[in-house]
Amino acid sequence: MSYQAEYIWIDGTEPTPLLRSKTKIVEDGKEPPIWGFDGSSTNQAEGSDSDCVLQPVFACPDPLRAEGDKLVMCEVLHPDMTPHSTNTRRKSAELAEKYADQEPWFGIEQEYTFFQYGRPLGWPEAGFPAPQGPYYCGVGGDKMPGREIVERHTSACLKAGLGIEGTNAEVMMGQWEFQIGVLPPPLIGDQLWVARWLLFRIAEDFDTFATLEPKPVLGDWNGAGAHTNFSTKAMREDGGWDAIIAGCEALGKRVDEHVSNYGIGIENRLTGAHETAHFTKFSYGTSDRGASIRIPWQTAKNKKGWLEDRRPNANMDPYVVSGLMVETVCGAAAGD
Ligand code: ADP
Ligand code: MN
Ligand code: MN
Ligand code: MN
Repeated sequence: MSYQAEYIWIDGTEPTPLLRSKTKIVEDGKEPPIWGFDGSSTNQAEGSDSDCVLQPVFACPDPLRAEGDKLVMCEVLHPDMTPHSTNTRRKSAELAEKYADQEPWFGIEQEYTFFQYGRPLGWPEAGFPAPQGPYYCGVGGDKMPGREIVERHTSACLKAGLGIEGTNAEVMMGQWEFQIGVLPPPLIGDQLWVARWLLFRIAEDFDTFATLEPKPVLGDWNGAGAHTNFSTKAMREDGGWDAIIAGCEALGKRVDEHVSNYGIGIENRLTGAHETAHFTKFSYGTSDRGASIRIPWQTAKNKKGWLEDRRPNANMDPYVVSGLMVETVCGAAAGD
């Protein structure tokens, strides 16, 4: 017998890459092998020299197919086995390795918006739904479009063995969130990309798509972010407060570099309104949802724990964001 392996990778679409996947039939008892694809159809190669290589890096059960079938997250390589320029995982893995002794962990809150017929799911054909207010963690009536998809997605993540931690309806109608963590890099990126793939795939069955667009509706409607929660061993231990403040200070020294790598269109979302800090400003504070970095109340109370970088967009690449945070915060702690 054989099983189906769905090979998933990140393409070269600019400015925001897309997920791609294709199915390989693999003999039972064998691991998913190295494979390839036509990079000229994914903005990753020229037609005259089109081969790209898929290197499996993370596999889990495929919750949408039969027992034994798998989802396989891949890095993209050139045929000479060097990493492709679109392969952001490699650098993240190298930084994780370099600072492994500090034991960095991440939990990411992925916000997203369902769309159907060119507008957010459940929105009227013309005009707007009732203003924001009742939707965040709401229940009842016709207020919560998309819940069936969210339920299916959560079960699928659990069946796949991903570190899904919870879900909630968001502030804008049709917008939702799930959280993945707490995981070290680059595994946090592997799992978040697979969870995104499952979301997109399941939404197909409802003639709907889930977009990671950071500001899907302009005006007085919340954008979609990917709050990135981060800690090191020193932050989690007794007396971790000083390490947390040092982390915030280090992040404050590299504001532009972080913001410019936190997802395309960040200036439309980090306006200073709708629970954001303006993208040109930097601040941190306890329980402050208008700050760039929020120190959660549990952390402030225990004087140890983690920090939440609220700036990353929903469409950020978790390999890039986790890599940068490790480089900045662990690098500063190591005196690099
Ligand atoms: P909120 O919506 O209030 O910002 P959530 O409950 O949605 O909070 O998300 C909290 C996130 O914090 C989760 O993704 C969780 O994994 C993460 N987290 C908790 N503890 C740690 C830790 N020690 N290090 C890093 N992340 C953490
Ligand atoms: Mn949240
Ligand atoms: Mn949220
Ligand atoms: Mn948050």
